[in-house]
Amino acid sequence: MTERENWIELEKQYFLPTSKRLPITLVRGEGTRVWDLDGREYLDFVAGIAAVSLGHCHPEVVGAIERQSRELMHTSNYYYTIPQVKLAKLLCDSSGLDKVFFCNSGAEAVEGLLKIARKWGKEKRDGAFEIIVAEDAFHGRTLATVTAAGNEKYRAPFTPLVEGFVRVPFNDVPAIKKATTGKTAAVLLEPLQGEGGVNVPDDDYLPQVRAWCDEAGILLLLDEVQTGVGRTGKLFAHQHYGIEPDAMAIAKALGGGFPIGAFLAKDHCAVLGPGEHGTTFGGNALACEVGHTVLKYMLGHDLPGQVAKKGEYFERKLHSLADRHPMVTEVRGKGLIWALELDRPVAEEMMGACSEEGLLVNNVKPTALRFIPPLTVSEEEIDGAIEIVDRVLARFEAGGPK
Ligand SMILES: *Cc1c(COP(=O)(O)O)cnc(C)c1O
Repeated sequence: MTERENWIELEKQYFLPTSKRLPITLVRGEGTRVWDLDGREYLDFVAGIAAVSLGHCHPEVVGAIERQSRELMHTSNYYYTIPQVKLAKLLCDSSGLDKVFFCNSGAEAVEGLLKIARKWGKEKRDGAFEIIVAEDAFHGRTLATVTAAGNEKYRAPFTPLVEGFVRVPFNDVPAIKKATTGKTAAVLLEPLQGEGGVNVPDDDYLPQVRAWCDEAGILLLLDEVQTGVGRTGKLFAHQHYGIEPDAMAIAKALGGGFPIGAFLAKDHCAVLGPGEHGTTFGGNALACEVGHTVLKYMLGHDLPGQVAKKGEYFERKLHSLADRHPMVTEVRGKGLIWALELDRPVAEEMMGACSEEGLLVNNVKPTALRFIPPLTVSEEEIDGAIEIVDRVLARFEAGGPK
C-alpha cells in the first residue's frame, strides 16, 4: 500500500464524507505552487478557496505566526490584546466603517450581519426582521446562513429553517423594491457572487440598491467574504461602485490562509451591546497579528492595484481561450476571480483533467470552472494555467478527456 492510498483510505474511514475531494494529498506549498505526496507540482488557482491571498507560506505570514505564537496566542475577549486593537483600527481606517467584531470564519461573520439586522430592525424599524437575499447567493453553512443562501440543496435537509428570508433574483433592482415591506430590515448581497458561479452584476446594480435602501430606510449588508481584501482589484469590491454598505462581512483573504473572519458596521447600526454577541476564539492575538500583517502588506504593496492589472492580463488570456475554443461560451469575473462558462456540463471532469496536468481549479457550477489564484500570482503563472486549460479544452472538444 502506497502512502497516498493510506491517507485517502484513512480519511474515508474517519472523516464525515462532506467533501468531494480530488485524489491528491497535498503536503507543501510555496507562492502559487503546491506539491503532493509524490512530489508532483501544481499551479494552485484555488488558493484554499480565495483564502491564500499572499500565496502559500508567504514569509510575512510565516513570520507573524512564528513571532506571535511565541508571545501570546489566545486570551479570550475578557482582556485587551494589542494585535486585535491594531487590526480593528487598520480595518476601520481602510474600509470607512466604524466598528469591527472578529470571528473565525466567513459564516460566522455573516451571522453577525444577520444579528445586526435583527436587532436594528427591532429597535429602529418597528420590529422589522425580514432580510432580502439573492438567488444563487452563498453565505456559509450555519443554519441561518444556509437559509440565506440561494442553493436549495444546502437547505432542504435541515428544515425547519430560520425565519424571515425573502429571496429575489440577483442583479434585479425592481425585484428588491417589490419585496420590500414594512417588515424588511435589510438587503444582504455579495457584490459579485463567488460560489454561485462568479456572477458579476451590472455596474449600476449596487448603486441603485444602495439608493433604494436609503429611500426605504433599510440596511445594505454586503457579504465580502470572497470579494473583500483585494480579490477584485479594489480593497473591497463595493469600492468599484462608489458606494458604502451599512455593514459587511469579510474573512477568506484576510488571514492569508490562517482562519479569521470579521464583520464591520457603521456606527448608526453597530447595535450589538455588552453580552449580545461573543466568541471564545474570535479575535485571538495570533489570528489578528496574522490578519494585521496580511492587510498591512496588501496596503503597503498596493496589492489591489496589482490585482487590477494582473486581472486585465488574465481576462485577455481567458478571452483568447474563448476565441479559440467554441466550448467556452462566456468569460466573467473581475480582478483575480474569473469563471469560464462551458457549453456542456463537464466542469467537474475538466477540473480533474486540469489537476492531472498540474493545475488546480474548481467547478462552481456543472458548466463553470472558477479561477481564484493567490493575489501574488505572476503573469508567467497565469500563462502556465492558460496553457493547461487550453490543452484540456482541446481534448474535450476532440471528443472526451482521455
Ligand atoms: C466562503 C464564503 C462564506 C463562508 O465562509 P466560511 O469561512 O466557509 O464559513 C460566506 N460568504 C461568501 C460569499 C463566501 O464566499
